[in-house]
Order: sequence, then C-alpha cells, then structure tokens
Amino acid sequence: MHTTKLNIDSILPLTCSRSGTCCFGKNVMLNPWELFNLSSEKKITTRAFRDLYCEFGGIRLRFDGKPDKKGQQACSQYVDTIGCSVHLGRPLACRLYPLGRKVQFDKAHYIYEGDTFPCLTDCPEVLELPKLSVGDYLKGQEAALFEKAQDEYLIVMQNIADIGFELLLESGLSASGDTKTLATWRVMGNELPELLAERIGQEWLDYLMLPAIIDTQHPITFAQNHNELLLLKAQEKFGAIQTNQELHEASVLMIGLALHLARALGADPKSIAEHWIATAKNHGAQE
Ligand code: SF4
Ligand code: SF4
Repeated sequence: MHTTKLNIDSILPLTCSRSGTCCFGKNVMLNPWELFNLSSEKKITTRAFRDLYCEFGGIRLRFDGKPDKKGQQACSQYVDTIGCSVHLGRPLACRLYPLGRKVQFDKAHYIYEGDTFPCLTDCPEVLELPKLSVGDYLKGQEAALFEKAQDEYLIVMQNIADIGFELLLESGLSASGDTKTLATWRVMGNELPELLAERIGQEWLDYLMLPAIIDTQHPITFAQNHNELLLLKAQEKFGAIQTNQELHEASVLMIGLALHLARALGADPKSIAEHWIATAKNHGAQE
C-alpha cells in the first residue's frame, strides 16, 4: 500500500477523539518488553497474559472481542464504554496510531498508510480538534521508551541471527557442502507465523517472550539482559554439538527465532531472510 511520509514537524489532525474505533480489526505486534508492560498493567504474570491474550507465542495481541459494525473484532484489551483496559501499558503500535514508524539505516521516520489521513475515515470529528505536530503527538503519547525498546530489540534480533550464521559458517557445516540450511532459512522467511512458532517450539518461544527479568522498567537494560540470557541459553544448548545434522538444526532454530522476533518488531521476515541468505552466500554458504 502507498504510504505518506512525514517529518517530525508535520502538522496533522493528531488529537484523538477517543472514540476507540481503531481498537478493532488491527494487527498489534508485541516485543518482549511490551508484553512485560502489558502484563504489569493487567496485574497478571507475563505468561498468563501471553496465554490469555496473545497469539503466535506472544508476538501479537489477540483481537477476539465483540465486533464493530463492520464485523471487525475488538482488541482483547478493549472494554465497551471504558476503552483500553491497559492504557498506561499499551504498546508502541497503539501509541503511534494513526502513524507508523519505519527504521532505515538507523534513522526512524514516520508514515501513515494511504493518501488520506486514517482518522478521517472513522473519526471525521478530529478536524474540529486542535492540530498537532508529529513531535508533540509522540511526546503526548509517551512513545520514547517504547521506541527505544523497539530499536534495542532490532539489535537483539541481529545477535540471535549471528548465532545462526556462526553455526552454519564457522562450524564446518557450510564447508561440508551443506545446502539444506539456507533452503530452510528461505522456507522460514515465507512461513505463516503460526507455523514458524510451531517449528520453534514452546521452550524457545518462552525464552524469546518470557525472559526471567523482573527488576527493570528501562527497555534498554531489559533488552540487553534478555540478549545475555538468550546467548547463555544458546551456549548451553549448542556448546557441545558435533554432527552436521545437529548444527543444521541449531542454525535453523536460531534464524527461525530471529525471524519470529523480526515479525514481532513489525519487520518483513521474507525480505530479512532473503538478505541473510545473500549474506551467508557471500561468505561461502550454498543453497
Ligand atoms: S481513529 Fe484516530 S481519532 Fe479515532 S480513535 Fe483512533 S486515533 Fe483516535
Ligand atoms: S491495547 Fe488498548 S489501545 Fe491498543 S488496540 Fe488494544 S484496546 Fe486499543
């Protein structure tokens, strides 16, 4: 879909009329820090929140509430007459809406989908409300920490993928003439999220979305501690493996996990998988 690009000073009808119409039929992805925040706000464990309200191992909020007039189901956190039941812990996608955020070459920019400002479709009354700059809107939404979480988890994603690269390129697997590992990376890039989650398995989905971190509210420390836990787990699990079949499976698992996290961060797993395959080929891997 065509997108309209904005800069931080763009002035738009960004005062929300709070009708809640955008809490229906959306695709709200979650990184692990967002899942942690939502469950803290709901005052239940992260595991309970994940199991009750999320899909694909915790990377997407479930939209299974009462449908609106268009038949689009409400977010699992939406309560009739009240609105969002987790307002203070709501994820970045909800803080940004109707804007989206793209990171390219380490620089973030803001967009909205289509040529018409999205709120005008369901809440035309916004035209009567004060207009705001993108920068002021983001401040009002307290989006900064959530953007930091998003950016830090992109680094975690790359670090997990690096383990998958090492298991292929530095273990002798690639040098042995292996071709099936890259072929499986490609399959995973195209795989439906429910199938990729199944392939990854519950144990590693839990490591990805339910890290044993309870003592920090700051997203950068949280993501860095999580990164450390994931690397330790990989060392523990893969430190002693020897056969090419074991190396193949471990490499596939780490790339699958990184692609699942990519989807949680709103990135396109297919293009990321293609990019990683091309990089691995440049370093001698074959398909
Ligand atoms: S569509 Fe826009 S104005 Fe309407 S509730 Fe959502 S953010 Fe607010
Ligand atoms: S988390 Fe809250 S703001 Fe976000 S879609 Fe659900 S109900 Fe709406």
